Amino acid sequence: MPKFVDPTPPGQCLFCRLVAGEIPAARVYEDARTLAFMDIGQVNPGHVLVAVKRHGAMIYDITPEDAGAAMQTAQRVALAVREAFDPPGLTILQCNGVEGDQTVFHFHIHVVPRHGDDGVGLSWPRKEPPMAQIEGYAERIRAALAGA
Ligand SMILES: [Zn+2]
Repeated sequence: MPKFVDPTPPGQCLFCRLVAGEIPAARVYEDARTLAFMDIGQVNPGHVLVAVKRHGAMIYDITPEDAGAAMQTAQRVALAVREAFDPPGLTILQCNGVEGDQTVFHFHIHVVPRHGDDGVGLSWPRKEPPMAQIEGYAERIRAALAGA
C-alpha cells in the first residue's frame, strides 16, 4: 500500500472550510484535534461525524495522537447521543479513503444511533432532512455534552 499523498487542492477541502467556519454546520463538539458535527446525510436521526482536523485518509495516515483524539471524541459524542436519543443501539464506523468513495481526506468516524429497525448501511439515496431538523438533533447532543 503506497503512502498517503494528499490530492486536495489548497483551499478546496470541504472539511477544512467547515473547520474554519466558512461552511455552516451543526457542530456538537470541537477540540484542538477534532470536530464533531451532524452529517447532512442523516443515516439515522442523531448521526454525528467525528473528523480529525488534519489531513490523512486512513487510520494509518494519521498520528497516534490524532487517532486517540478521534476515538475519545467519538466516545464522548456516543455518550451524549445515548443521553439525547436513548437509541437501543449505536454503531461506530469508518469508511475513509479512495476505497470508501471519499473525496475529503480527513480521517473521520461515523457515530450512528440505531432506532428500531434502522440499519446502518451508508446507502443512497441518503436521508437529508432539513437543516433546522439537523440543528435540532445537534442541540440535543450539545445539551447532553454540556451536562456531562
Ligand atoms: Zn481538509
